[in-house]
Amino acid sequence: DSPKPRFSRVMLKISGEALMGDTSYGLHPPTVERIAREVKVVHDLGVEICMVIGGGNIFRGLQGSAQGMERTTADYMGMLATVMNALAMQSALEKIGVFCRVISAIRMDEVAEPYIRRRAVRHLEKKRVCIFAAGTGNPYFTTDTAATLRANEMACEAIFKGTKVDGVYDKDPIKHADAKRYDSVTYDEVLAQHLNVMDASAIALARDNNLPIIVFSLDEPGGFKGILGGEGTYTSVHG
Ligand code: UDP
Repeated sequence: DSPKPRFSRVMLKISGEALMGDTSYGLHPPTVERIAREVKVVHDLGVEICMVIGGGNIFRGLQGSAQGMERTTADYMGMLATVMNALAMQSALEKIGVFCRVISAIRMDEVAEPYIRRRAVRHLEKKRVCIFAAGTGNPYFTTDTAATLRANEMACEAIFKGTKVDGVYDKDPIKHADAKRYDSVTYDEVLAQHLNVMDASAIALARDNNLPIIVFSLDEPGGFKGILGGEGTYTSVHG
């Protein structure tokens, strides 16, 4: 039997790119399904799960504005991209029997519920996975900040950030063989050393509310479940 999880309510943040698999753009349904199965394993332990999925596999505001688009318009396009990813994940989760709500920071009532904090909390209590879509609803932010904001609002005990690597390194471990992995770092070290965890506004928001961030590999099967029991390799960021 699985050990009792260390956490009862968590935020899982994954980038849009994690849904691409080995492709270079958009959604790779088998990869979405694989991640959904990882989420189900944790959900089956009784953990209440919030999710935020980025949009970088489809559109990033900064890319659009670098090509001459008006920045806020480009950012809204990025937020819409996160809604598509959220719907794909909802579909994959419900296919394997995990009830799930997509909750959008931008109203689009035919597609997703509007964000109402108390209602979202109720979904979690009823063991529905809540996928928070459309970021914070504001341009000039990222989905890392959205994940931190919603994690605070939902009283999550930690943010789990699934990435391609199994923790925080002093330099990119995919490019540098001698990169060193941290077991644990402080928020201030992440900010001062520009460690690649989340953007600075997200880190500051987590720090000010003492919300731990745990960076783990989404590519390792069982990675999300392992860290809930305290096993596996990961880096935790806390005060
Ligand atoms: N975005 C935004 N406000 C938010 C969240 C996201 O404007 O609160 C836009 C922004 O343009 C961003 C894009 O949505 O580039 C996609 O989100 P993000 O880059 O965080 O996705 P990820 O890198 O996690 O895939």
